[in-house]
Amino acid sequence: MSEIIYHFGDGIYFNITNACPCKCVFCIRDRAKAVGDAKNLFHETQPDFAQIKAAVDTFDFKDCRNIVFCGYGEPTCAYDALIKTAAYLRQKGDFHLRLNTNGLSDLINGRPTAKEIAQHFDSVSVSMNAPDSDGFDAITRNPYPKKAFGAMLQFAKEVKDFGCDVRLSVVDVIGEEKVEQCRKIAEKLGVRFVCRGYDKGRT
Ligand code: SF4
Repeated sequence: MSEIIYHFGDGIYFNITNACPCKCVFCIRDRAKAVGDAKNLFHETQPDFAQIKAAVDTFDFKDCRNIVFCGYGEPTCAYDALIKTAAYLRQKGDFHLRLNTNGLSDLINGRPTAKEIAQHFDSVSVSMNAPDSDGFDAITRNPYPKKAFGAMLQFAKEVKDFGCDVRLSVVDVIGEEKVEQCRKIAEKLGVRFVCRGYDKGRT
C-alpha cells in the first residue's frame, strides 16, 4: 500500500499524485520507491480529495506544524485536490504549508494559477534547475521546450508578487558557475535562493 502522508526530516510530506509532465535527470523517483518513513510512494491509483481528506483525518500530526506538498510527482498536476487539501488543512490547524513544485503549473493547467496558490500556501519552492532555457529543458526533459523556463520564472515571480514566500532551488551538481548564475536570477526576481546537495534527491 502506498502512503499519501509521511514524515521526512522535520516535516510532514503530502504525496497526492505521481503524475508529472517532466522526466528530470535528478528525479529521486528513478532511484528509490520511497523517502522518509514511507515504504512506497507509488500509488496504484491516484488518490482523490476524499481519500486525501480521510488520510488527513487519521494521521497523527503530533506537534509537527510544517507540511510540504512534494512528490512523488508534481503536486500541481492534481490541482483541484491540492487546493482543496490546503484549504482543508487551514481549517484543521495552524500549519505552515509549503508547495514544492517544478513551477510549470500554468502550462500544466492551461491557466494562471499563481494567485490561488499564493492564497493557499505560506511558501513555495520552485525547482529552477538551470540558469537558461536550454539547460532547463535538458535537465527537466519537459514537454514544453523553449517555453518552460520562462513560464517557471514568471510563475515564481507572480507567486512572490501575490505575497507568498518563494525560493528558487538548484542542485549543486550543475556546477559552481551555473549555481551563481541562478543565484543572480533569483536575486533579480526578489526571491530566495537555495542550492541543495544532489544526495538529497529531488521530487
Ligand atoms: S523531479 Fe519533480 S518535476 Fe522532475 S520528474 Fe521528478 S517529480 Fe517531476
